[in-house]
Amino acid sequence: SRPSDSNLRSPICCIMGHVDAGKTKLLDCIRGTNVQEGEAGGITQQIGATYFPAENIRDRTKELKADATLEVPGLLVIDTPGHESFNNLRSRGSGLCDIAILVVDIMHGLEPQTIESLNLLKMRNTEFIVALNKVDRLYGWKTCRNAPIRKAMKQQSEDVKNMFKTRVNEIVTQFKEQGLNTELYYKNKEMGETFSIVPTSAISGEGIPDMLLLLVKWTQKTMTKKLTYSEEVQCTVLEVKVIEGHGTTIDVVLVNGVLHEGDQIVVSGMQGPIVTTIRALLTPHPMKELRVKGSYIHHKEIKAAMGIKITAQGLEHAVAGASLHVVKPNDDLKYIKKAALEDVESVLSRIDRSGEGVCVQASTLGSLESLLEFLKTPEVNIPVGAINIGPVHKKDVMKASVMLEKKREYSTILAFDVKVTSEAKELADKLGVKIFIADIIYHLFDQFKVYMANIKE
Ligand code: GDP
Ligand code: MG
Repeated sequence: SRPSDSNLRSPICCIMGHVDAGKTKLLDCIRGTNVQEGEAGGITQQIGATYFPAENIRDRTKELKADATLEVPGLLVIDTPGHESFNNLRSRGSGLCDIAILVVDIMHGLEPQTIESLNLLKMRNTEFIVALNKVDRLYGWKTCRNAPIRKAMKQQSEDVKNMFKTRVNEIVTQFKEQGLNTELYYKNKEMGETFSIVPTSAISGEGIPDMLLLLVKWTQKTMTKKLTYSEEVQCTVLEVKVIEGHGTTIDVVLVNGVLHEGDQIVVSGMQGPIVTTIRALLTPHPMKELRVKGSYIHHKEIKAAMGIKITAQGLEHAVAGASLHVVKPNDDLKYIKKAALEDVESVLSRIDRSGEGVCVQASTLGSLESLLEFLKTPEVNIPVGAINIGPVHKKDVMKASVMLEKKREYSTILAFDVKVTSEAKELADKLGVKIFIADIIYHLFDQFKVYMANIKE
């Protein structure tokens, strides 16, 4: 059947795994872009979403299977941050997804965050495939650019083949120790019982056709019901962001239903529900990521599943991670506002604002949440007295200076991935407020640790 015959939405796929396993690079490889090298320290700090249209998947997989039936319109892939303090975003990410790619470095096997990701997937009963990445690092690997993995394997020396077998066996054993049966996908006869492993290289593209086809075939075969398009809007805010020329925007994942320009929506805000009207529905060009700056396509309406940037008035205090509700003509606005309030209460409860502590400022609520989570871990344990989102202004420095008399070391702003205005910097110098700036969470921690140690001397 052609895509238009079926009524399936695109599956939403999360990409998870240990830091440096190659999650971002894998996406880059499919897209033909280079997000990975643009990231601070190569770490993915925010959730991004990319839509891969079916035509593109067909093109990438034709050498593997020329007449593959693609019933889904495409694949929506969400790249989740890799650092271990990012539990929050990752659990949020995996709650949205229909299927996940668990990326494992073939040279390293299962690592701490692989196991963390695995536990999240188990907890949420999310299906996944294993991308056994970096096969090109097997010593003596012969590059077969973008080739199906079995074709690439045939070109390899006996040494490489043996090394590959040894590694796969070791990793299958490691999965067994975690209570999971895994098997190379082309040998796997009991999909669902046994999880499939797809060997890949994100650098030279071997195995990418296999991974794409497996994702599409498996989801459309086993998740028909879940993927059957439903009119009822199901939509989650991923990030709240100020974009030049657009003001405050929200990046959302529309899981089901249709959004229209001009729709009245309710989004959870820091100070209560925000009722507003969609001014513009924007998407990046297909294959480009929502996070990458560039031009957008304007839409009158968009059908799920899709990653969308929404512009509207009053989104400044919108909360990432909450649902977006659409108010239809006969709906009771009061009821919808109440539902939105429940969303925000559960999100806010994760933010500990009590007592004395440093000021924490981040670019998005998503990164703020991650940072707060990280500061709370026992190894770090830095108390937080105030939070804010966006650039550091004079008023933020004033707020931080309150701590000067109580606890000087807490008269500090940890600025994560945000700018500090020159006036703010001047005032901070004058008052003696310390500002630490970094775009990698643990660098902030390192700076603060050194500072604390110096103060105590
Ligand atoms: P992430 O933290 O999981 O998103 O990992 P990245 O995508 O940032 O990749 C981490 C590092 O591994 C980068 O230096 C990549 O260039 C490298 N890398 C990723 N995939 C591959 C691969 O398939 N082969 C090789 N040789 N290197 C890879
Ligand atoms: Mg990454």
